[in-house]
Amino acid sequence: MKVQELVNKFQGELKISPFHILKVLSQIEEKDISFYLINPNLEVRESSVRNILKHFKEGYPIEYITNKVKFMGNEFYVNENVLIPRIETEDLVIFAINLIKEEKIKNVLDIGTGSGAIAISIKKNINDINVKASDISSEAIKTAKYNAKKLGANVEFKTGAYLEPFLEELNEIELIVSNPPYVETDFIDSNTSLKYEPYIALNGGNDGQNFFRVITKKYSNLLINKYLIFESSEFSINKTAMILSNIGVPKIIPDSFGKGRFVFISPD
Ligand code: GLN
Repeated sequence: MKVQELVNKFQGELKISPFHILKVLSQIEEKDISFYLINPNLEVRESSVRNILKHFKEGYPIEYITNKVKFMGNEFYVNENVLIPRIETEDLVIFAINLIKEEKIKNVLDIGTGSGAIAISIKKNINDINVKASDISSEAIKTAKYNAKKLGANVEFKTGAYLEPFLEELNEIELIVSNPPYVETDFIDSNTSLKYEPYIALNGGNDGQNFFRVITKKYSNLLINKYLIFESSEFSINKTAMILSNIGVPKIIPDSFGKGRFVFISPD
């Protein structure tokens, strides 16, 4: 299929603008859009046509096609085993970096690291600290390790749920950060844009709060006297804060769009 034919097909069938079609094509093939404007009769690669179809017809994320996403100025490798890092989470990283600098924190743990975006970004911004990270999925840990190597960040990764892999070293940890699964189960099932991302990274149970409940029930003794920053849903942030109030005094921090998004707890 020629470039021109591809544009006509999607413009007609799915009402997608030529610019949008060429933008996606150019991302997939790593070319400038002008390349296609100059060569409208060029044959588009078979695999590109298939991927564009999958993206526009089924909502398959472009990041899983190109296997990359920009986060805090670095390019992370992503695949279907990890959540695609979101802009909101950059706010969490910026907040953590400021806190680490102000409070001279030296030991940080990221729970549910996925692609490693949070842990690696923190380490890349402040080299003089120890950063550890865990994830329940060994495939995610593989991806995170790959990113750490690619980006030259020395982060210690271990596979396991919640705090389990680092229980013995937990004493020395001063700050725990996490973007845990917090989406309501019904919402994931009814949302096409989330259906290709790992269920385990998104699913927070009926009310999205399972992770926070487990953390407070199972580990509250281990969490007192640490800094904690958790991302949660803008729709349930008050509930998250209420659950976490069993550990310390929660403060709701907004994201850059003014939505209550993070719960922050300081040591007493
Ligand atoms: N921010 C993601 C979303 O709303 C959810 C990430 C998560 O569950 N940690 O799609």
